[in-house]
Amino acid sequence: MERVDIAIVGAGAAGLAAAIFAGEAARGTGCRIVALDGARKLGAKILVSGGGRCNVTNVDVRPEDYWGGPRPVVRNVLRAFDHRRTLEWMETLGVPLKLEPTGKYFPVTDSARTVLEALLRRVGEVGVELRPGARVKDVRRTESGFEIHFADAPPLAARRIVMAMGGLSLPKSGSDGAGLAMARRLGHGIVPTTPALVPLLLGKAPGAGGHFADWSGITIDARLAVREPNGKAREERQGSLLFTHFGISGPAALDLSRHWLRARLETPAGEAGVTLGHPEFANEEAARAWLAVQTREHPTRMAATALQTLWPERLARELAGPGTPLGQLPKAERRRLARELAALPLNVTGGRGYSFAETTAGGVDLREIDYRTMESRKAPGLFLCGEMLDVDGRIGGFNFQWAWASGYLAGRGATASLAG
Ligand SMILES: Cc1cc2nc3c(=O)[nH]c(=O)nc-3n(C[C@H](O)[C@H](O)[C@H](O)COP(=O)(O)OP(=O)(O)OC[C@H]3O[C@@H](n4cnc5c(N)ncnc54)[C@H](O)[C@@H]3O)c2cc1C
Repeated sequence: MERVDIAIVGAGAAGLAAAIFAGEAARGTGCRIVALDGARKLGAKILVSGGGRCNVTNVDVRPEDYWGGPRPVVRNVLRAFDHRRTLEWMETLGVPLKLEPTGKYFPVTDSARTVLEALLRRVGEVGVELRPGARVKDVRRTESGFEIHFADAPPLAARRIVMAMGGLSLPKSGSDGAGLAMARRLGHGIVPTTPALVPLLLGKAPGAGGHFADWSGITIDARLAVREPNGKAREERQGSLLFTHFGISGPAALDLSRHWLRARLETPAGEAGVTLGHPEFANEEAARAWLAVQTREHPTRMAATALQTLWPERLARELAGPGTPLGQLPKAERRRLARELAALPLNVTGGRGYSFAETTAGGVDLREIDYRTMESRKAPGLFLCGEMLDVDGRIGGFNFQWAWASGYLAGRGATASLAG
């Protein structure tokens, strides 16, 4: 049987980072490292990322930008390889980055391909052998390490394994959850998964929020909230929101999606609600105060006209209802308007699924990983990194930062453990 020292399974962002840092750490030792990937063409997700520009990292990366496993673990991993290290690293790879006003870093070329090509080039330079088209079926423990089984090739023995097989987002890229099933067979607990950073589906419903289809194409700055059955906000996001023919998308909706999907997973079906509010109004009282001022200053102005100073016309008309001057609005109607300006219920019926998700929430339980090396506490000699783990970041380059940082630790950890 063919034997290698380290096999990296999965050559996406995390696997390529692990390959580079393992290769650099092993230089001159004669250590044989291979990076295997089921895809024939590598880096599908890197190429589509950031609208084809690859949002490599963010100027302000904090553990609070991530969800999933324990924050202290996330903090320690990010500390080991922070966004400044990413900037330096990319520079040495020949990919200078530029900072945009949103805090996101992109390659100055505005092309994700530059990032992918630089990573692949470096993998070759450090002597790691890349094997595309090598779909792994199973990884089994042996006395001297691991045995890797393929769909259509003889098995391979490896003393150490780095698993970087992604989660379930964009399954056509090759990341279809097979890695999580293998990690489970190797003894790991898997936190149930849901799509994350995914557009949300809305259903028709009585009331203004059910008429979303009429708003298709409208982009607004909004405050979205996932609410408990008692109305308490469980999580809030403010940002750009786009109405589409199926529901809502845009950064605010994508960021909120994992919270609604997790709430649905954790609480009985249908209990978590989503509301849409104007960013100026933190609560109903603030909206009521605004309406009172408008009524005092413009009593003959139609409610819909007044609302157009806040929302686009189509939305304002839907919310305002029948044409009534502000000064003649019945009390109950005034209260409804204030409530819906601050928190209009949206009938979220689901997410668009893994095929439209940018990442995965849930995955290999982070508590089972040694954060200093990313080595498994369940199967010594196994290292894990990237989206496979129970960590998901918000939109803005945070998920790649996690992939680079965890890949860095896993690659170096695997090499160091051989020397040890
Ligand atoms: C449309 C889109 C846009 C995005 N934009 C951004 C962005 O701009 N910024 C950002 O930070 N994040 C972005 N993300 C998220 C980011 O792409 C992921 O967080 C990151 O790619 C995860 O890297 P990974 O290496 O852990 O997993 P993956 O990229 O999924 O790589 C896993 C690799 O493992 C391989 N593999 C899986 N199973 C097997 C198997 N059985 N045998 C062999 N190989 C296998 C796959 O082929 C794949 O190459 C985006 C995601 C999507 C889908």
